[in-house]
Amino acid sequence: MTKNIGWNLDNSYSLLPQKFYTSHKPKPVASPELVMFNENLAAELGFNAEALKTNEGVAIFAGNELPEGAFPLAQAYAGHQFGHFTMLGDGRAVLLGEQITPEGGRVDIQLKGPGRTPYSRGGDGRAALGPMLREYIISEAMHGLGIPTTRSLAVVKTGEPVYRETELQGAILTRVAASHLRVGTFEFAANWGTEEELRALADYALERHYPDAETGDNRYLALLQGVIKRQALLIAKWQLAGFIHGVMNTDNMTISGETIDYGPCAFMDVYDPAAVFSSIDVQGRYAYGNQPGIGSWNLARFAEAMIPLLHEDQDQALELAQEAISEYKDHFYSNWLEGMRAKLGIFGGEEGDKALVEQLLGMMQKNRADFTNTFLDLTFGRETAMSGTPEFTAWHEKWIARRSRQEQTEGQAAELMKNSNPAVIPRNHRVEEALEAAESGDYHVMKRLLHVLASPYAHTAEQEKYAALPEPSDCPYQTFCGT
Ligand code: AMP
Ligand code: MG
Repeated sequence: MTKNIGWNLDNSYSLLPQKFYTSHKPKPVASPELVMFNENLAAELGFNAEALKTNEGVAIFAGNELPEGAFPLAQAYAGHQFGHFTMLGDGRAVLLGEQITPEGGRVDIQLKGPGRTPYSRGGDGRAALGPMLREYIISEAMHGLGIPTTRSLAVVKTGEPVYRETELQGAILTRVAASHLRVGTFEFAANWGTEEELRALADYALERHYPDAETGDNRYLALLQGVIKRQALLIAKWQLAGFIHGVMNTDNMTISGETIDYGPCAFMDVYDPAAVFSSIDVQGRYAYGNQPGIGSWNLARFAEAMIPLLHEDQDQALELAQEAISEYKDHFYSNWLEGMRAKLGIFGGEEGDKALVEQLLGMMQKNRADFTNTFLDLTFGRETAMSGTPEFTAWHEKWIARRSRQEQTEGQAAELMKNSNPAVIPRNHRVEEALEAAESGDYHVMKRLLHVLASPYAHTAEQEKYAALPEPSDCPYQTFCGT
C-alpha cells in the first residue's frame, strides 16, 4: 500500500558528466526510529507530513527504502582543507534527488550518515546522534535568524552504534539544500576534469542558482561575480549574528550562498575577534575575525578553478578573475555596515557610521561584553557591560546625536533594532543541555529550544530566559569534528 507522501523528485545533477558522482545506494540500518521531524519544512516542500512520519517515510529517512523517482548518488568534490588541497567527495552522504516544491523550487534531499561510499576513504560513512541533532538545531536557528542555510528535515536513530572515541548512538540526518555544489566541486572539475566537464558544471550552476545572470555577455564571469556577491552577503550575516562556522574549508562553501556543514560551529558569547571553538583549529585560521578574509581566500580558489572559462586568453582571464575577487571586500563591508547600522537603529548612511560601530566593538572587546546581549541592551535602553565608563558615555552621546539627525522617529529606530538584534541565539550551554537530554531519550528540551529559536526577533518573555549567560566556567567551550 503506498500512501501519497508527496515525493516529487527530479534528478538534474545526475545528468552532469559521470565524473561528478557515483551511483550509490544507502546501506540499510537495523531499527530506524524517527526522533526529530520538521513539520513546517515538510509542508513547505509539498510533503504530507502525517504520511511522511509513518514507517514508510521513516524507512526512507533511514536509507532502508528509496522514494519513488530517486536516483541515489554520492557527489565527487575536492577542497582546500586548512589550506591544503585534497580529493574528498560525499564520504558519508547520499543524494536521493531534488524535490520539486509546490512553488516550483528545487531542493536537494540528502541523507547524511547512510554508510560508506566510494569517497569514504578511512571513514565509516556514519554519523552519531549528538552531532546530527546539533546540525538540526543550528541550521534551524540560522534559518530563524534569516541567514541562508541548508535545512534539517528529519533525524532518525539507526539502532546501530557508531564508534568515535567512545561508542555512540548512530543517526542519519535528512538535509535539504538549494544544492550541494561547492567551491570544491569546481576545484575537482578544474583539477581532474576536462574543460568541457568544467563548462558543464558551470552551466549547471548558472542555470540552477543564477538564471538571471545567463543573459550577460560573459556568463562565466557572471557566475563568479554572483557567487562572490552571495558569499559576501552570507559572511556579513554570520559576522552580524556572531556565528563562527569553524571549518571554512573550500568544500564547505556553497555556490548557492547557503551556509553548509555544521561541524564545529558555534555562536560567540563574549565579543572577541580571535574567538575559536573548534578543537582542531589550533592556529585560529577560522577565528571569528578571520572569516571575511577566509571568504575571500576561498573565492580566489573558486576564481582559479574558473579561469579556463573566463576568457580564451588566459592572461586576460586571470585579470578578470582578480578584478572580480577585488570587489568582494566592498560587497562584504557594505553588507556588514548596513547590518551594523540596523543593529544600532540607524537609517541611511553617514560618513562617521563605520567609526561609531568600530568604537562600540572596541569597547565590547575591552570589556569582554557579550555580543548578542549588548545589542539587546542597547535595543531596550538597558545598562550594558560598559555603562558607567566615560568612554561609553561619550559613545552613547554620539549615538543619540546620530539618531537625532535622521528623519525617522525613535519608534521606527526601536523597531529596526528589534528586527535586527535577536532575542535569542543557540547559546552553547543551551545546545549542550538539549543534546544531553535528547541523547538519553528526552526531546522536550530540544523542542523548546527550537521553538524559541524559530522566531528570534519576537522578543517574548520566554526568550528572555534563553538570553541568560552560563555560569562562569574554567573550561573554554570546545566543539569537535569527526562528527
Ligand atoms: P567535513 O569535515 O564534514 O566537511 O568532511 C570532510 C570530508 O570527510 C568529506 O569528504 C566527508 O564526506 C568526509 N567524512 C566526514 N566524516 C566521515 C565519515 N564518518 N565517513 C566517511 N567520510 C567522512
Ligand atoms: Mg564538508
